[in-house]
This record gives sequence, structure tokens and C-alpha cells, in this order.
Amino acid sequence: MQRHSWKDSSYYINQIYVEESCLHLDYTQEIIHRAQLPWSVVPDRQKPNSLADDYVENLSAGKRQLYLCMNRGVFFKPCPGTREYQCCDYQVLNTGTNCPIDCVYCILQAYLNNPWLTFYVNTEPLFKELTESLSGHPELFFRVGTGEFTDSLAIDRLTGLSRRLVPFFAHWDNAVLELKTKSAVIDNLADLPHNGRTVVAWSLNSPSIMKSQEIRSATLQERLDAARQCAEWGYKLAFHFDPIIEHPGWRAGYAATIDALFATVPAEAIAWISLGALRFLPSLKEIGIKRFPASTIYFNEFVQGLDGKSRYFRPNRVEMYLSIHRRLKEKAASTTCIYFCMESDEIWQEVMGFVPAAHGGLPKMLDRAVRGS
Ligand code: SF4
Repeated sequence: MQRHSWKDSSYYINQIYVEESCLHLDYTQEIIHRAQLPWSVVPDRQKPNSLADDYVENLSAGKRQLYLCMNRGVFFKPCPGTREYQCCDYQVLNTGTNCPIDCVYCILQAYLNNPWLTFYVNTEPLFKELTESLSGHPELFFRVGTGEFTDSLAIDRLTGLSRRLVPFFAHWDNAVLELKTKSAVIDNLADLPHNGRTVVAWSLNSPSIMKSQEIRSATLQERLDAARQCAEWGYKLAFHFDPIIEHPGWRAGYAATIDALFATVPAEAIAWISLGALRFLPSLKEIGIKRFPASTIYFNEFVQGLDGKSRYFRPNRVEMYLSIHRRLKEKAASTTCIYFCMESDEIWQEVMGFVPAAHGGLPKMLDRAVRGS
């Protein structure tokens, strides 16, 4: 079926696999029932099929197959930031890997080695880990995100995970959940008792990058309309200009996105906005070029950063940041925290005119933005 919109990329999925020991779980049955797709059982700890034998070649095919399986590792852990750059102190909730959207720059292409979409259905230990961490450290404030190894809402129509997570976080004073997406899948959020403890976030880019490099993602206006709806439901919002990509017309493109953002969404609803220029592991370049031969984003001059990732040269990054930051500052509410994801103090100073330490550090700045104190 030819679709005219990818507000919800879960419609791309056409097959479900279930790890045998998960079959009896109510949650598994719920998802199978909701999806109405062909499904089959896979013996424990086995792979659904041979797609992993040629991972890169089969990544596109893997994005149509959802593997409901067991997470035998840890669900909740700190984001793997690096010591060399200012990190936002994020806690990652690992609910599954990969997503049906296909971004040319997606770091997961180089990070994963299985092509299927995986979703962990054994959520009992997930909530146990969360409860232990949050109750064990009432003195800390946790910012928790599910969008590190997947898109937080892209398959929510099938999993309904948001309907479990959002009410859970509503009960905690020392935590906030961030659901980060490039979809417009928000129906499950409509009637949830969120208590201001969930931030719904969208990654944004220039319109031409969204269209050409983020395959099966929602359009700019679809994302912004969904954000406005979430604000009407009382959710706080966030936006991530990440990765900022140098491309012909980037200045006008990012300006157009910022203008559309503030024309659609109430500025006061936005807790934070991040900026991050394209950065990638060297191994991603080869995969990206192989999978997306028409894309030119990897054909630029890059320098290796302190974290081993390729980045644009500093003057190029600063030029883009200055342009985008200036426009954001003109329109953003004074309570919105605009910050860099993984940049040095020198860049902060040059673009924003201060370093995070002057405001108590980046984690504190973000905590204030969402708690309003
Ligand atoms: S939406 Fe996120 S997880 Fe999905 S392909 Fe794009 S970058 Fe990767």
C-alpha cells in the first residue's frame, strides 16, 4: 500500500517474532492482538532468521520485522556521554533497539549488529529497577529517556508502552521522563495522568534534511501539530536540533524550521531545546554510504573529536550554532533551557556567552527548566 504520510511508521512492520519464553506474557499477547500481523515463535536466545548474517545489507528488511523478546541485561543505566564534553547527565531506559524510521545518520547502524526491531516485553524487571533507583536516591533528580537505542514513540501504537511509563513517572517527585520521537504517534498520551512528569520531545532539522535523510519520519508540520496537541494536554515539550547538518541552504532551512516551531507551539511549553552538530563513529560513514548512495552528508570535511567521533571543524560548527542559537533566542521563552549536546566549554562560551558551570552545571540547568525552580 502506498502511504502519503509517515506520521506512524509502525505501519511499515509486516511480521512479528516472539521469543518462546515471552509468549505467555500478557504484554506479548496484548501486542500480538493489537498488531494483527503474522507472527511466529523463535526458540529462546535464537535469532528469528538469517538476516543478521549480512547485517548492513539486511538492515532495511529488518526494519519491517518486530522481535518481541526478553531483556536479560540491565534496563536502566546512565547515558554513555564522554568525559571530554559537557554531558547532560541523562539516564537511559533501554526498552528495545532500532526503529522503523530510517535516518541516514542513525548511529545505531554502526552500534547494533542485529537488523530486527527488538522490543523487550519482560517489563517487570524494568519497573523494579526504576523503583529501586528512584526510591533509593530521593536526593537526586533523574531525567530518564527511552530514545537512546530506539525512537520513543515510533512503535507505541503497537506496544502501548507510553501508557505504562507515563503514569509510573507521574508518581515520582524526583524524576522526569522524556519521550523523544520523529513520529507523530501521540494518541496513547491523550488521557494519561502525567502530572507534569513527562516531557514529549521531537527531533527537528531543516525541512530538506527531514525529507531526504529521515526516511519514514513525520513531516515538520506533523511533528509540530503533534507537539501542540501534547501541550494542550498539559505536557511539557522539548526539541532537539540534532544532528545539525551542513548542506546547501542550511541557514534558511533551519530558520524556516524555527519559525514554524514558534508559529505552531506555545513557547512557554518548551522545557529545553538542544543543539548538536553531526558527529559519527568512523565506521558509520562506510555503512551510511553503502545504504544511502544518493546521500552526500558524509562527503564533507571532518575532524576527529576527543571522543573518537568525526565532527565538522570548529569554525563551521560555531557558524551554524550562532545562526540557529540567535534565532532561537529571539523567539524562545526565558524559561526554556537552550543547550549543547556534547560540546566543550569553549564552544559554549563562544556561542552562548557563558559556560554551564556559571549556572550550576548543565544537569542543574535542565533540572531547573523542567521543575520550574
Ligand atoms: S528515528 Fe532515531 S532510532 Fe530511528 S532511525 Fe532515526 S535516528 Fe535511528
